[in-house]
Amino acid sequence: MTAAETLEATLNSLSIGEMNPEAYQALGNALEKPLQHLHGTYDRYVAAALKEDGKNITCKKGCSACCRHYVSSVEPFEILGIHLRIRHAENYPDILFASHDRVTRFDKIFKEEQGKGEASEAEDRSLYRYFVRGLACPFLGKDGECGIYESRPMSCRMFFSETSPRFCAGTSLASPWNRNFQVELPDEAEEALARCSALLAGLEIPAELFAGVLEANALFGKYDV
Ligand code: SF4
Repeated sequence: MTAAETLEATLNSLSIGEMNPEAYQALGNALEKPLQHLHGTYDRYVAAALKEDGKNITCKKGCSACCRHYVSSVEPFEILGIHLRIRHAENYPDILFASHDRVTRFDKIFKEEQGKGEASEAEDRSLYRYFVRGLACPFLGKDGECGIYESRPMSCRMFFSETSPRFCAGTSLASPWNRNFQVELPDEAEEALARCSALLAGLEIPAELFAGVLEANALFGKYDV
């Protein structure tokens, strides 16, 4: 809670309106430490929750089967943190092209799924269809490690498996033996984070990681020249 409230207080202290290069840099500077603190606290909370529940986690460094999911429900302040981190990277254009490709593919599948079956399940069906294509996240390194590990969003930090990695890949994801799960935050912490996101709502950064990165580039990329 305290980490989320610190981030909220930071965002409240800033006037987030019309963006210009100075305002963007100031936002980035102000977000850096509270965001690191939030992610660090979040990791400790998750570790404690897993221990308390006696979960036998099988996830290992370099296993990246889950990095084929279309990452959604990312907070806009996390997308800004990622954008600030990658915008000067050598492979930045590659990340943008790959992000565009992912968004285009997912949107196409989602449109198709909206035209069939139960409408409320269209997103879940789309996420599954997308996943089984096996497209790696643009941030995934050749060594199977996340290229933005310290800045990766909470959506990635909350995802675990209790079963063999083979159940995390391809169509085995739908196996009844698969025990992938997510660690949820307490409601009050979720509410504090939602208030943080609301403070950035005017920037209209999409919740999907890859669409969000593209949007952040459209908003702020022009300041990088
Ligand atoms: S951001 Fe990192 S952890 Fe998350 S899906 Fe991409 S490579 Fe995997």
